Amino acid sequence: MQKQLILFFILKVGILSSLFCQVKYEQERTNMVKSQIEARGINDENTLNAMKAVERHLFVPATYKSNAYKDRPLPIGYGQTISQPYIVAYMTEMLNVREGDTILEIGTGSGYQAAVLAEFVSQVYTIEIVDELGLAAKERLKSLKYNNVDIKIADGYYGWDEHAPFDGIVVTAASEYIPPPLISQLKDGGRMIIPVGSLFNVQTLMLITKTGDDIKTTNLMYVRFVPFTRK
Ligand code: SAH
Repeated sequence: MQKQLILFFILKVGILSSLFCQVKYEQERTNMVKSQIEARGINDENTLNAMKAVERHLFVPATYKSNAYKDRPLPIGYGQTISQPYIVAYMTEMLNVREGDTILEIGTGSGYQAAVLAEFVSQVYTIEIVDELGLAAKERLKSLKYNNVDIKIADGYYGWDEHAPFDGIVVTAASEYIPPPLISQLKDGGRMIIPVGSLFNVQTLMLITKTGDDIKTTNLMYVRFVPFTRK
């Protein structure tokens, strides 16, 4: 009887502490959106709702969980990082995507940016070059029921031809130039966001818009991303 009581007590404490964590993370997420994202001028409803919904602490290694909602990028292993929340929100807003859209992401990493987009677009295709990261992201997104994200482990330089053209393309690693296959896989009227520049220099986040054969580039801001690597 006493044993049963102790077990019951342990179970109760377990449930209560996990509930407490849920509430704590939700509060941190609400604060993150308010103070880091809305305060810096992001006002697209879809983007804000997605940033409020995606549980960022489930996308970072266990040792960084308590830093998951801080205003900074975090390591995710293999020399890679999950971007600062504001940068994810900014890139999402600048893509200007809508409910029915199909998006290609290059650089799955943890799967966080893909999950943010998958909250409101119809389909996300994402490519990761590091096998271990791609496989872990696949498992994570499956267990979180993001059924509208497909991950391929490959060199994203070539895009994903079978599913092209895309309404939007987001590249989350810095390339020295814009990979031509990505431009050709962009829909007429589509937008691409990509950091361009070398690892040792300041990189520029660029917006590329395609209208017929006309390709327009706009410099958005200076950024620092991990490098776009090749297989
Ligand atoms: N979007 C990610 C963060 C990405 S960090 C997130 O939300 O967590 C950049 C990622 O791009 C790294 O995981 C890196 O391995 C990957 N990467 C670099 N070059 C690549 C390439 N040529 N093709 C696909 N992925 C690439």
